[in-house]
Amino acid sequence: GNGAHVAALVIGTGYGGSVAALRLAQAGVDVHMIEMGMAWDTPGSDGKIFCSTLSPDNRSYWLRTRTKAPLNYFLGFPIDRDISRYTGVLDAEEFSGITVYQGRGVGGGSLVNGGMAVTPKRENFAAILPSVNADEMYGTYYPRANAGLGVGTIRSAWFDSTDWYQFARVGRKHAQRSGFPFVFVPDVYDWNYMEQEAAGTATKSALAGEILYGNNYGKKSLQKTYIAQAKATGKVTISPLHKVTSVAPAAGGGYTVVIQQINTTGDTTATKTVTADRVFFAAGSVGTSKLLVKLKATGALPNLNAEVGKGWGDNGNVMCGRANHLWDPTGSSQSTIPCAGIDNWAAGGAFAEVAPLPTGIETFASFYLSITKNPNRAQFSWNATTGQVDLNWQTAWKQPGIDMAKTIFDKINSTEGTIYRTDLFGVYKIWGDHLTYHPLGGAVLNKATDNYGRLAGYPGLYVIDGSLIPGNTSVNPFVTITALAERNIEKIIATDL
Ligand code: FAD
Repeated sequence: GNGAHVAALVIGTGYGGSVAALRLAQAGVDVHMIEMGMAWDTPGSDGKIFCSTLSPDNRSYWLRTRTKAPLNYFLGFPIDRDISRYTGVLDAEEFSGITVYQGRGVGGGSLVNGGMAVTPKRENFAAILPSVNADEMYGTYYPRANAGLGVGTIRSAWFDSTDWYQFARVGRKHAQRSGFPFVFVPDVYDWNYMEQEAAGTATKSALAGEILYGNNYGKKSLQKTYIAQAKATGKVTISPLHKVTSVAPAAGGGYTVVIQQINTTGDTTATKTVTADRVFFAAGSVGTSKLLVKLKATGALPNLNAEVGKGWGDNGNVMCGRANHLWDPTGSSQSTIPCAGIDNWAAGGAFAEVAPLPTGIETFASFYLSITKNPNRAQFSWNATTGQVDLNWQTAWKQPGIDMAKTIFDKINSTEGTIYRTDLFGVYKIWGDHLTYHPLGGAVLNKATDNYGRLAGYPGLYVIDGSLIPGNTSVNPFVTITALAERNIEKIIATDL
């Protein structure tokens, strides 16, 4: 409540925030988590908590009156539709040159993501987090993160036989015929549950088009893993539909945190002030960067250093589709959960997820989300005129990523005698170069913070989310975000409490 004092306040309930809350609570610290999104624990009038990708309603998007699907065209026709404004689960946050998709609610990105739980190849780690000891990460913190997240892999006999992964088997055939390594990718979706969905003995979720706007069953989101464990300690409380707007040193020590309570149409209904001995910024790469840049510029935290807001990258995300021959159908039944990728990182700087296109009809399309080594980095800055934080990314900065993705798909198209789809992102547009699912950086480790996330200039303030990672993880990011948070919180608990 207003005027309260808390030992540790965590801003955001995604991967970094959930790890911090659990480990602090286990160390005996009382933790309060503030989350701007909803709790997502109550079914709607249709009996479901989340809506399906094929029929989005108000639960789909964060405060929008029209959906903004990442893949927004089909056969050249726009597919977005009107919805009522609501604190939905997926935020398509628009900056001048890029739309950044993020989860909103208790569980952060784990509510909306594909659950692909990938540990980077060790040989790539030095480029991802140069100041972090790789032996410790691969010996202790990656295994701890994988265990905490509940990571598993598809059963290969089922992969080889089920209709639901025909699209991925076509992806494998095409990758291998062009000489690219095809690799299975672990996921936090419960693979046994998915086999039961296929057998008709469990309610369908991944096999019913659920993913982008939440999975009602099957996926081990943070609500079912770290957050459930954190709550079970009895030392963690969570305030959903509360947004942190300011953090500043308090007169008697610790920090004054200003929090706005909002309703489901996004209006502020109350403003509360609490004090906290320690504050953990875990609002995600964009959320944490926006807060820190604003607080530095407006005088709440003037001593933050000049690295704040810098080093932001898109994890090189680019999307594309290929048009298959009529003898290579990808299937009208597709699981929403990707399970494999094409690894051309060393030779071409691209790792491509073989992604589903679960439309319910045969499309003869192969669809891919590529993670590339795009070197471009952007910066957040305070815009005093608009009172907003801007990001200077430009759409043209995707070009290196497109060129890297082409090292895979130009080759496959040439081997197969196929072409790119031009109907998925507009009319005659091949590349989905307008978005990222993987925002990273903005408060980079060992630059804006020390080597464990302590913010320079302010004892008791920490960053513990994707903003610590300087723009790229070579694979999908949340296992690395989780493992880094495990590493940092262990050190902070051992030395700062
Ligand atoms: P987040 O998970 O983003 O959590 C931050 C939380 O803070 C959010 O809940 C937000 O609402 C809250 N918040 C923000 N600002 C405030 C504020 N001021 N006050 C209070 N609360 C605030 N990654 C993978 O590894 N594998 C995948 O398969 C994958 N698929 C994805 C698919 C989609 C559609 C999307 C959008 C992302 C996907 N990702 C995937 C990326 C992954 O989800 C993110 O990298 C990850 O969630 C980031 O973790 P985080 O802890 O940094 O922040």
